[in-house]
Amino acid sequence: MTEVTAGSLPGEPAVLRPESLPGEPAVLQPIRKEYIWGTEDWMLSWLHEGLEACPLLIKIIRAREALSVQVHPDNAFAREAEHKSGKTEMWYVLDCEPGAYLYYGLKHRITEEEFRKRIRNQSILEICRRVPVKKGDVFYIPAGVLHAIGAGITVAEIQQSSDVTYRVYDYNRENARHERRELHIDKAALVTGFMPPLAGHHPMGPRVQKNGYSRTLLVQCSYFVVQLYEIEENLEGNTRESFLSLLILEGEGTFAGGGKRFRLCAGMSLWLPRGMDSFQIEGHIRMLASAPGMTET
Ligand SMILES: [Zn+2]
Repeated sequence: MTEVTAGSLPGEPAVLRPESLPGEPAVLQPIRKEYIWGTEDWMLSWLHEGLEACPLLIKIIRAREALSVQVHPDNAFAREAEHKSGKTEMWYVLDCEPGAYLYYGLKHRITEEEFRKRIRNQSILEICRRVPVKKGDVFYIPAGVLHAIGAGITVAEIQQSSDVTYRVYDYNRENARHERRELHIDKAALVTGFMPPLAGHHPMGPRVQKNGYSRTLLVQCSYFVVQLYEIEENLEGNTRESFLSLLILEGEGTFAGGGKRFRLCAGMSLWLPRGMDSFQIEGHIRMLASAPGMTET
């Protein structure tokens, strides 16, 4: 068996889309967004020059307050209704306050009628699964699963590049002009699966120790493959199959590849284009490596 490193996952052909993406390794500057509930740093997004067509969107979300309870459509629905991609996403919990929790799917099966009624009378939280979180938890959120990040939680979010969100509950919050954000009952009712989610909130794969580093498969789905790398000394990887996004979570080190050298530190986002035969990372580093999945998005 061939050695598997960042960027070369067995049986994972790259997304085949026109390669208008940047052709050289690059450090991406975070783009800060402020909301009533907290902040988002967009680490890899369509707002970054040259990445408008990138199928992945990667954010660091810091929730001072809870986010709205929401659901996203799949590709088929989003294309038809919104002329956009659907949105499957995942969260990797970077930090949280003691007692923090979030909502992840339904507790049990319900009918569409009950779903609509609970949105209208604002009792939807009663049937949402409330899950306590801790650092390192992983949540896989396919399109159709109701969810909400809770207060005091920081996550890295990796998702299909899309902004289609249907909100079903927003804690009766108002903005400075006393306006409430719109709820989308009909569309949410059409895309929500009224069953509890099948996935748990743990990495999908085991932690695999290698020479100089370990890796853990967090989520592998049609749209993205996300691995956690814990580098103790060094890692050699390639991007023969697909582009790669590296999000440095902790530690320091150096990156060399594609004719570039970067000093790495926590909070950095690196873009590695498809087609690099080799890159090296040295140092003591925890990072997320995200690659596109098999399905064109
Ligand atoms: Zn969401």
